[in-house]
Amino acid sequence: MGEHHKLVIIGSGPAAHTAAIYAARAQLEPVLFEGFMAAGVAAGGQLTTTTDVENFPGFPEGIMGPELMDGMRAQSVRFGTTIHTETVNSVDLSERPFKFSADGRDGTADVIIISTGATAKRLYAPGCNDGELWQRGISACAVCDGALPIYRDKPLAVIGGGDSAMEEASFLTKYASKVYVIVRRDVLRASKIMQDRALANPKIEFVWSHGLVSAHGGDLLERIRVKSNKTGEEKDLDVAGLFFAIGHVPNTEFLAGQVELDEDKYIVTKPDSTATNIPGVFAAGDVQDKKWRQAITAAGTGCMAALEAEHFLVANA
Ligand code: FAD
Ligand code: NDP
Repeated sequence: MGEHHKLVIIGSGPAAHTAAIYAARAQLEPVLFEGFMAAGVAAGGQLTTTTDVENFPGFPEGIMGPELMDGMRAQSVRFGTTIHTETVNSVDLSERPFKFSADGRDGTADVIIISTGATAKRLYAPGCNDGELWQRGISACAVCDGALPIYRDKPLAVIGGGDSAMEEASFLTKYASKVYVIVRRDVLRASKIMQDRALANPKIEFVWSHGLVSAHGGDLLERIRVKSNKTGEEKDLDVAGLFFAIGHVPNTEFLAGQVELDEDKYIVTKPDSTATNIPGVFAAGDVQDKKWRQAITAAGTGCMAALEAEHFLVANA
């Protein structure tokens, strides 16, 4: 049967650590599984893959993503969170106490908070990879990076045809001289209102039925090559920024059949709550949020999850 805990938190981003800080201070003795390269990301989550975080309150000069996550982890530990650097591979939520199985460690928990995050999809065309121009002009988060000086008054490009691409392109027009939106088909997937807004924006130029071939530059991105999916013809676009907005994948594979997921595999939570369809199982952060996807919103729902877990434990003592 293994070890038993009042509260197990699965994940290691801002949602998981905020939940841990609140739960530890409420003496729930949380045990947090931070994962070992879970979902291909180091413990600490998505922010370990970025440089400056300029929009997390409290750091007027910005803070490096890994440093912010080290601080959150240290704060969790300071208040008594037990952290295991293991990935949770499966859970059985069919009855309480819930069962979990991690690499080399099994056990049960009265309450589980799931905050395993999501992974932004990337394109791995030549020039776009780690060690090439990724994070040197190429990003998967316009809201996070768009305001950086390297993008000011320069032409930029967004790839995607969904709501994220429309929103990110519109957002980038605040800084850019122009924004190309590269769409692989000749129609958009985005909702009508988001499409209309982007189509009416004079700074946005749609490049229909094109895909990315490669990215080029020196220290920073300077140019991308795109190819028509209809004629095969290639052309270059001079851009200082390339933003992928081709969707995210929530890290919920290990939950299959255990908790309600939506059609895109995000955990479904009740309105204004982190409660899932299973009483005693809460979800916080990007794993249940396909819209806002920010560190501060993840932290906010992590706080909610810990408070809701505390109320649940009191009510079900
Ligand atoms: P995540 O950060 O997604 O972390 C969850 C982590 O849990 C996973 O990465 C993994 O390590 C672990 N895990 C997953 N599955 C398991 C498992 N089965 N068992 C154990 N552990 C597991 N937001 C901002 O507000 N400002 C920014 O400047 C900013 N910049 C960004 C830059 C980049 C390149 C990216 C990709 C994102 C950026 N974001 C930014 C978005 C922000 O990182 C996310 O919204 C936030 O990290 C989501 O937090 P989270 O707690 O939901 O989980
Ligand atoms: P979506 O899955 O809706 O759209 C992804 C887009 O990227 C599609 O246009 C898709 O093309 C394109 N794409 C996928 N893979 C590739 C590829 N390899 N190369 C080129 N293009 C590719 O993701 P979003 O992140 O846009 O939205 C996710 C959810 O979040 C949606 O439900 C959306 O409504 C919601 N959302 C809502 C917002 C709002 O209301 N303000 C803001 C942001 C998101 P294709 O269409 O051909 O498949």
